[in-house]
Amino acid sequence: RFQGVEQGPPIEVFLLNRLFTEDTFQNKVNLGVGAYRDENGKPWVLPIVRKMEKQLAADETLLHEYLPVLGLEQFCNASVAMLLGEDSPAIAAGKAFGVQVLSGTGGLRVGAEFLNKHLKYDTFYYSTPTWENHHLVFVNSGFTKPRSYRYWDPKTRGIDFDGFIEDLKSAPENAVILLHACAHNPTGIDPTREQWVKIADVMEERKLFPFFDSAYQGFASGDLDGDAWAVRYFVSRGFELLCAQSYAKNFGLYNERVGNLAVVLNESAHVARIKSQMTWIVRGMYSNPPAHGAHVVATVLTNKQLFDEWRDHIKLMSTRVMQMREALRSELVKLGTPGNWDHIVKQIGLFSYTGLNQRQCEYLIQEYHIYLLKSGRINICGLNPGNVQYVAKAINDAVTK
Ligand code: PMP
Repeated sequence: RFQGVEQGPPIEVFLLNRLFTEDTFQNKVNLGVGAYRDENGKPWVLPIVRKMEKQLAADETLLHEYLPVLGLEQFCNASVAMLLGEDSPAIAAGKAFGVQVLSGTGGLRVGAEFLNKHLKYDTFYYSTPTWENHHLVFVNSGFTKPRSYRYWDPKTRGIDFDGFIEDLKSAPENAVILLHACAHNPTGIDPTREQWVKIADVMEERKLFPFFDSAYQGFASGDLDGDAWAVRYFVSRGFELLCAQSYAKNFGLYNERVGNLAVVLNESAHVARIKSQMTWIVRGMYSNPPAHGAHVVATVLTNKQLFDEWRDHIKLMSTRVMQMREALRSELVKLGTPGNWDHIVKQIGLFSYTGLNQRQCEYLIQEYHIYLLKSGRINICGLNPGNVQYVAKAINDAVTK
């Protein structure tokens, strides 16, 4: 019966993590998986999360009853407000709502299935390159026509904006365009505000549907509003859109699978019907979401004092990332490593697309026990004052060898 099942390929980031864990070399460095590490290279549970967890554990009025299929309402409302802004006219007009989902991935999955099932959308566009799971999630949701738009230009180590616009112009009506709300993964390069305006112009003209992926709000720049600018701009232009919000990075709640699918419409009259269909999609997929992480996030987002404490945490994380970008570039410059390394500090978010080629990446893994994706993407948080010189020397060796 099962003998015909073929071995599936490994998932690169999870494989790297395993190889890293098994590696006994003392100075090994993990620049693979996208998770925050503190200045000692350790995972960091946000103090506000610990505090909430203690409070929740002591609260005997909290039961383990099922949540509603669409999740904890307070959590969904707070998430939509965080994304669109407290004073959002779309919220005031009852045209925006949220669905609690299984982190960012779950938001993409539920949203894509809804678009495919109920609007019959079958074409989606993702950036080249993009987060490696986008393609799979959309195809598994029923989208049969995956397409890509140009994004990264290796020559300039920036956006191929003309290519991007050209590809949008040739996209068919109702194609779903996956856009990274901020801190593009893996390149770390976002469109400028002027470029977002042009993207919106073309998408409006071509009647394309924006699906934002917001996995790093607040984590990217330390500024929650600034990181949501693109989404808010599209809403202000009257676009209807979906946005998958993840709390994996900005709350450090990776394995709790806390997320929200924000839905923005032009008519509040459609909300009840859409919610009813979202309910059936979730019902048939996992029935209803987990409560723990949603309680943590909802409590923090709806209490001014706790919210301010959390904002300090995201500032601290984003500042550390920026400092490590500076440190890596300055070490490479000091070593006289051939090439220009300014892109490391120009990019934002967790990742840097270093421009290292596959051979150089493999060399770093084999010779230096520095684990990174073969695309040359590194997680900047894997760097700390104790290892940045080692990493820079290794990169220098890989590049000059
Ligand atoms: N989108 C992007 C661009 C991401 O980088 C990630 C996290 N790696 C996600 C979505 C989803 O992650 P999660 O499901 O853990 O929230």
